[in-house]
Amino acid sequence: MSVSDSFEPPAEPGARLRHPAEPWRVKSVEPLRLTSPQERRDALEQAGYNVGLLPADLVYIDLYTDSGTSAMSDRQWAAVMLGDESYAGSRSFYRLEAAVRRYYGYEHVIPAHQGRAAENILSRILIRPGHQVPGNMYFTTTRTHQELNGAVFHDIVVDEAHDPAADLPFKGNVDLGKLERLIDKVGAEQIPYVSLAATVNMAGGQPISLANMADVRELTRRHRIPVILDAARAVENAWFIKQREPGRGEETVAEILREMCALTDGATMSAKKDSFANIGGWLAVRDPQLAEKARNLVVVYEGLHTYGGMAGRDLEAVAQGIEESVREDGIRTRIEQVAYLGDRIAAAGVPMVRPVGGHAVFLDARAFLPAVPPEEFPAQTLTCALYLDAGIRSTERGAVSAGRDPDTGENRCPRLELVRLTIPRRVYTQSHMDVVADSVARLHARRGEFASGVSFTHEPATLRFFQSRFRPVASAPLFGPAAR
Ligand SMILES: *Cc1c(COP(=O)(O)O)cnc(C)c1O
Repeated sequence: MSVSDSFEPPAEPGARLRHPAEPWRVKSVEPLRLTSPQERRDALEQAGYNVGLLPADLVYIDLYTDSGTSAMSDRQWAAVMLGDESYAGSRSFYRLEAAVRRYYGYEHVIPAHQGRAAENILSRILIRPGHQVPGNMYFTTTRTHQELNGAVFHDIVVDEAHDPAADLPFKGNVDLGKLERLIDKVGAEQIPYVSLAATVNMAGGQPISLANMADVRELTRRHRIPVILDAARAVENAWFIKQREPGRGEETVAEILREMCALTDGATMSAKKDSFANIGGWLAVRDPQLAEKARNLVVVYEGLHTYGGMAGRDLEAVAQGIEESVREDGIRTRIEQVAYLGDRIAAAGVPMVRPVGGHAVFLDARAFLPAVPPEEFPAQTLTCALYLDAGIRSTERGAVSAGRDPDTGENRCPRLELVRLTIPRRVYTQSHMDVVADSVARLHARRGEFASGVSFTHEPATLRFFQSRFRPVASAPLFGPAAR
């Protein structure tokens, strides 16, 4: 038994007052800058009330994303030095290929510089205009690539995924009735693949069960429809399966991950999530003909099929990160840190998505700011308030992220209007989580001061949330001067 396997967190039944101590220590520190309330007000105005446009130097705790923001280990940095920068046939590619084959179980591995690059190639290979792509809720970049290639996306996630209060173990599951009805309606030949995410980001980082994946596999096998996994957070999903799915508690996370992948025909991967890499991704498939097509396209968009837009050192960091990602003690502290933040916020009576997901705590902005009308973007407004209050950067996951319907041009109005507090892996401490929980509770106590939200001053056509700019609807500041 290795040291990692024998790690046991302090057992604390009932309220989670702390999270398990980390199975690592800090070797290198990065200083943070504290800002004054006035500096933050000025910075936010200059950023067009879009926290994504703030200079990171003016952010104290950056919970914008867990993508590429995780701390690499000393082993990953050491692996970086071993990177083979050969243009063709790099040794580092073979190491990555071996890691993906071993831990995810797919035969053909095509590197891509990040997840959306893998999505681009997959969508170009499989989708023709008029195709219909079902998925357990949309993800921004995934759906954008599907639509750019002429497909229509269909949400087939269980209804409860759209209900922030439904406290269920597997809110990422597919509603098989929805999938079956879609197949009946459009015909299996119009469905190039089923797009399965694990965990489901837009539902709040909610997992899908192995049983549900097996049912999807069975149904799609009958109709000869492939299943493609969005594997960005599949390890986190595997941890939830181990905790929540009957009969899975004795299996390792690595075993469960392999079982999940075995129920699919291929995967797109953002290695910036589970694999602790700052950049990187891959596309993997079982079908050699698909792999051949993907290799031909990766050369056009990314680079030769043995580096796919990554430096040899990045391939090394991803390969090492994959091995670290399935360690039980590491994944446990990761998920429990997120749960700790969620429990503290819930204890303050703040409306949020239940249960707490794998990578983030999602605040229910519509319930948090009931006086802000939907067309004034309550979630966008709340991200501004969190920054003004304590220098915390969060993400809007609501109407701004959902964008407009490509046919009608109307704003989509998703039932979930959320603010995501996304926790990078191995980066922040329990004290940082306390600062965040305190700020959220403080704003919630002052929620009566928010009567109006923000409106667009600039709106890009695709993935508008990244570059859009806003102004407060009322001439008064978004809310009174910061309490501190
Ligand atoms: C991040 C992410 C992607 C896209 O990956 P990038 O590396 O950011 O391009 C796709 N799907 C999910 C679920 C993600 O979280």
